[in-house]
Amino acid sequence: MKVLVLNCGSSSVKYKFYDDDQQLAEGLLEKIGTSQAQLNHTVAGRKKIVEVHEILEHQAGVELILRTLVDPEKGVLKTIDEIQAVGHRVVHGAETFAASTLITDEVLAKLEECIDIAPLHNPPNLAGIYAITHLLPTVPQVGVFDTAFHQTMPEKAFLYAIPHVFYLRNHIRKYGFHGTSHSYVSREAALMLGKSFEELKLITCHLGNGSSIAAIDHGKSVDTSMGFTPLEGLVMGTRCGDIDPAVPLYIMNKEGLSLQEVNSLLNKHSGVLGISGVSNDFRTLEEESAKGDKRCSLALDVFCYRLKKYIGSYVAAMNGVDAVVFTGGIGENSDDVRDRTLSDMEFLGIELDGAKNTGKKRGDAACISTDASRVKVFVIPTNEELVIARDTRRIVTDKAVN
Ligand code: ADP
Repeated sequence: MKVLVLNCGSSSVKYKFYDDDQQLAEGLLEKIGTSQAQLNHTVAGRKKIVEVHEILEHQAGVELILRTLVDPEKGVLKTIDEIQAVGHRVVHGAETFAASTLITDEVLAKLEECIDIAPLHNPPNLAGIYAITHLLPTVPQVGVFDTAFHQTMPEKAFLYAIPHVFYLRNHIRKYGFHGTSHSYVSREAALMLGKSFEELKLITCHLGNGSSIAAIDHGKSVDTSMGFTPLEGLVMGTRCGDIDPAVPLYIMNKEGLSLQEVNSLLNKHSGVLGISGVSNDFRTLEEESAKGDKRCSLALDVFCYRLKKYIGSYVAAMNGVDAVVFTGGIGENSDDVRDRTLSDMEFLGIELDGAKNTGKKRGDAACISTDASRVKVFVIPTNEELVIARDTRRIVTDKAVN
């Protein structure tokens, strides 16, 4: 089945086009809303195409992507009718969506309700759905939610210790994100261990521009570090993660900052960028740290120390762990972060193999713990789009059968 996967952000659309599990094309359209929107389009075995267009809103962006996919020179399709389904990444499914779902009018109405708790993320996801509804009205669409995998968390893990009325009335609780990635790499880890997913205790670390960690007990997410929003938890590129909630209140009062300014401070100017004052890119931090920049080194230390503490706490939450998995741009590529995080954890049964860790080839899945390590450590490249394509295929096929 030929499936288009769309991941619509506020000013960008990432896409991948699949024939079953085979990826035929991928691309990224950035700077939507300007006359300088940039399209990067790649087809396996061909030269990458870069174009600049005036693209003022998402529908025009999606239209450009569809045109590119059927273009005789740039594309991979003869006609647009070959697209059999479209899968969308949807950031927030609240408590309404615990699994991927066929998009119907009723589902769309519920997604509109979710905007209230995800005002930044869900509107562009919805814009992508509406664009396809308009441009390919007969093609079935599926929503795959970042929050869905974590809907198995128990109350004791997802409730905040604030008056209960805010949960009941305003739906304030921990939701967790990156669920598609945590689900994918944890299942891959089970395959690498040669065991059933449902019999394992796993900790998965998705470390990218946004970072989160999940505790997966017998196939179910039982805890995760991101919360009501993706701001909670680990230190990130530009986000602070866990912080004393009194700090923003204190800063607002002391510095006279507005709600929006503090929001921007914590989301865009904090994390390793805030500590280092240099960059949110881990490659730069590692280079500058090696040259002796103390604050870059400190930023890496704070990042890894927070991650180490979360791993320890999730071992406690599950009463053990069989494997720890690293994924995401940092998790897959930074042996330094993996080493700083997992060093001195032998008491938990975690022993990193230094040579395997530094020698791991980019893009490969690998076991990087010693043979004697009770807990296995894996690096597994994530593939959220493949999960979206597979879920879309499964749901559209089930619908056709029923
Ligand atoms: P996103 O969350 O946007 O999908 P990615 O998962 O692509 O992000 O991760 C991006 C991050 O990966 C960047 O901050 C970059 O610092 C980091 N990264 C990529 N390659 C390397 C590398 N070789 N060493 C260290 N960090 C890397």
